[in-house]
Amino acid sequence: MNILVINCGSSSLKFQLINAETEEVKAKGLCERIGIEGSVISYTPAGGEKEVTQSPMPTHTEAISLVLAALTNEKTGVVKSLSEIGAVGHRIVHGGEKFASSCVITDEVQKTIEECSDLAPLHNPANLIGVNACKELMPGVPMVAVFDTAFHQTMPEKAYIYALPYEYYEKYKIRRYGFHGTSHGYVAGRTAAFLGRDITELKTIVCHLGNGASVSAVNGGKCVDTSMGLTPLEGLYMGTRSGDLDPAILEFIANKEGKSISEITSILNKKSGVLGMSCGLSSDFRDLQEAYEAGNPAAIRAMEAYCYKVAKVIGSYVAALNGVDAITFTAGIGENSGFVREKVCAYLGYLGITLDAAANAKRGDEMEITTPDSKVKVLVIPTNEELAIARDTYALVK
Ligand code: ADP
Repeated sequence: MNILVINCGSSSLKFQLINAETEEVKAKGLCERIGIEGSVISYTPAGGEKEVTQSPMPTHTEAISLVLAALTNEKTGVVKSLSEIGAVGHRIVHGGEKFASSCVITDEVQKTIEECSDLAPLHNPANLIGVNACKELMPGVPMVAVFDTAFHQTMPEKAYIYALPYEYYEKYKIRRYGFHGTSHGYVAGRTAAFLGRDITELKTIVCHLGNGASVSAVNGGKCVDTSMGLTPLEGLYMGTRSGDLDPAILEFIANKEGKSISEITSILNKKSGVLGMSCGLSSDFRDLQEAYEAGNPAAIRAMEAYCYKVAKVIGSYVAALNGVDAITFTAGIGENSGFVREKVCAYLGYLGITLDAAANAKRGDEMEITTPDSKVKVLVIPTNEELAIARDTYALVK
């Protein structure tokens, strides 16, 4: 069965068509600038050339309609007709406490996702626009919701509760949820498979380091803690997000700069993190590493603070798990930056970790980057959220 995986943002839409039995990616692509002048779709069939086409997309319905046209195109398409698409898997950012696993989208499920929009006002409505557009264009095709928060729903109360008046949890469900759950779950599973170990016996710390970044502590395959919170702003320092800070800073900046809470929240999301610490140099770790190596003090500051923070969170999760068997790096920075991995691991000698410098310099596949005598294994596992979504979708609809 072919599964169309859709990750729908407010003005963009990523897609992949995956054969669920062989797990082959038949085609993938991206629609950008939906609802904005200059919309463009890029489409790459397996083994073929990437095509980039400008085409108006006033709404997500036109975007999905172009995706379906590309997939069924006579020359470059990968299926003959829409009947060859058996189901659609949608990435949904926030499932609140309502969804601890993926589920088939019924009217009731859709209503519940809408109710969770309060917790993710930028993401859930965009995700739902994708669901509605697919329903309109592919009536009768089963749809599955795969939530970023679901994997973290196994966190115990002591890990998810904020030290706030309890009524805020009762009234508004203010608690820690965590994100990137599809990636954390997939990578924790691959870590066990790579090591040839039973996941139920393994203590793993997964470091998902991309533009957004989070760490999770996984005990026996279940998440027991993660660094993101009510929103994806908490935890690690990220490309442009502040991560953890003293909450009193908000009022302090508001008074000094005459800014509103929402203006400051926007600064915390878009102008902070390594971009902020590097005086606006870059949020991209390739630029930062280059500047670091050229001796740029702003890049050195941002990079040192970033890696130190990752190491501190890993340390706290070693405590949460009362030990650790494997630490796995994933996502754009985790998979590609041996530089960041080495800096983070330099703090972890107390765990008996010895990095294999030659292995750490490689890129690409799943790999171990510690020496055979290292007490804790450190791995690099490329994440694959689309495949995880396709697998969940297939499992629910087949
Ligand atoms: P997103 O959170 O948007 O999915 P990704 O997981 O794709 O992000 O990660 C994007 C980040 O990965 C980029 O901002 C960049 O900093 C980093 N990155 C990608 N390639 C490299 C590389 N070769 N070296 C260092 N960092 C890299």
